[in-house]
Amino acid sequence: MFNIILFGPPGSGKGTQSEKLIATYGLKHLSTGDLLRTEISKQTPLGLEAKSIMDRGQLVPDEVVIEMISSALDANPQANGFLFDGFPRTVAQSEALDKLLQLKNTEIGVVLALEVSEEELVHRLLNRGLTSGRSDDNNESVIKARISEYRSKTTVVADHYSQFDKVVHIKGEGTVDQIFASLCSEIDQRLS
Ligand code: ADP
Repeated sequence: MFNIILFGPPGSGKGTQSEKLIATYGLKHLSTGDLLRTEISKQTPLGLEAKSIMDRGQLVPDEVVIEMISSALDANPQANGFLFDGFPRTVAQSEALDKLLQLKNTEIGVVLALEVSEEELVHRLLNRGLTSGRSDDNNESVIKARISEYRSKTTVVADHYSQFDKVVHIKGEGTVDQIFASLCSEIDQRLS
């Protein structure tokens, strides 16, 4: 089993690259943003609580996303490996993930960290907001709040995995295919 964290700020291309990576490596895609949006569309109590937090550009509570990931891991016992996208976003989430994987006798193989300038992130997110229907994408102050949450709470996740030498930084600007090739090359080195 080979598990990957695709890491990077909002708008860095995690969703786009995840689709290509899961198709190539047969991984199960676990995106907490997608799981939360599914809860919102079903109007569950969890979804209703999460929506107002997401619309402010803040992080939903650790317990909520950890529980969602724990259930998703249990629901996919046959997976070849998992691709985590948008999770973990805090050190508490990282520690919880490490424990959950350990219980399944597995671990994170690599953290692929996409690097994109702030100017480019805002540009991409505003563009995505024109078509995505995501209420957190069409307001510049919400976008700035998400980037600021990322800087203050999420960048430390990379430090957590750096201790174990698991982090690789990838240039997240260029064509989708160029970035995908860089990601694949890092994964292939570790699989062989
Ligand atoms: P993006 O990476 O573009 O911000 P996501 O779809 O990953 O988009 O996340 C959208 C929102 O969902 C976040 O701004 C946050 O409010 C919430 N969210 C997603 N994943 C997590 C997480 N692991 N912890 C806390 N909040 C999360």
